Amino acid sequence: MADSRKRYREDFEFRTVLGEGSFGQVYEAEEKANGRRCAIKVLSKDHIMREDKIRYVTTERDLLDLCKHPLVVRLYYTFSDPSSLYFVMEIAENGELLTWLRTLGRFDVPTSQFHMAELVSALEFLHSKNVVHRDLKPENVLITADWHLKITDFGTAKLLEPADGGEGEGEGDGGAGDGTASETTMARSNSFLGTAEYVSPELLTDKYTCKASDLWGLGCILYQLLTGAMPFHAATDYLIFQRIQKRDLKFPDDFPSDEARGLVDELLELDPVERIGAGPGGYDMLRDHFFFEGVNWERLWEQPAPDLS
Ligand code: ATP
Repeated sequence: MADSRKRYREDFEFRTVLGEGSFGQVYEAEEKANGRRCAIKVLSKDHIMREDKIRYVTTERDLLDLCKHPLVVRLYYTFSDPSSLYFVMEIAENGELLTWLRTLGRFDVPTSQFHMAELVSALEFLHSKNVVHRDLKPENVLITADWHLKITDFGTAKLLEPADGGEGEGEGDGGAGDGTASETTMARSNSFLGTAEYVSPELLTDKYTCKASDLWGLGCILYQLLTGAMPFHAATDYLIFQRIQKRDLKFPDDFPSDEARGLVDELLELDPVERIGAGPGGYDMLRDHFFFEGVNWERLWEQPAPDLS
């Protein structure tokens, strides 16, 4: 049963700062009552009000609450005091995937395969809950002490609503796994969401995101893991967007795997309906891709993960 006892700042021993976000700091902490280590995100209420980000913070809380899965960072509980909101979360001791990628330059094929398999499993779960992450990138993927992944940062995620036939946010039906444009669950968006280099062409062209938009992000990540570079890199956001819209995709000569290249190619498909994983075969098509040959998809989070240290 959920533990709904009210918490206070004094219930925790705050230790080192794990990281800095736009609304405050994230601390490593210990819950005094049970000795459990956790990460506590402390958000300044003033700052949230000033920046008009209440919706962002509420979305993060609600969707983390909805998406309880071993490959998604767990939100244990939230509480507040007059100045701050506190998100008490599962700790991912090894920090961001991006930091490891920068340290190592690039990952080898087996390491990339394992991480991609975990990302596919996590996304399949999110999409089964009708949640589109919309900002999938190595900064938003945390690494646990035993080197498994945890997806985080649900502030710009979206819970898709069932079709009601009209125009506007969260309309349409279906999404990754169904296969026709009219069935594609989408969220209209008038403002730019996500991060330039990972943004999907449908957001740029038609101002909507759908489950398949996360699969586009996955294609960018696989390319990045294996090369250390971004597939649509350019000097400015404008030039990046142009490359994305034209699908100006080039692979370096030393791209290490034909299977991975094939998968990137199928994930970075301009038409979201044609993107692998978004068609009628859904996630089975992804799991059955040659790149994932040999992966045991059963409870990946309990299998040994590649040590990045
Ligand atoms: P935002 O866009 O909301 O500012 P962010 O990812 O930059 O997102 P936070 O979510 O506030 O900011 O996290 C700040 C940093 O704290 C992260 O980059 C990460 O390094 C660290 N961090 C966050 N959550 C955890 C966690 N559960 N375990 C370990 N480190 C974490």
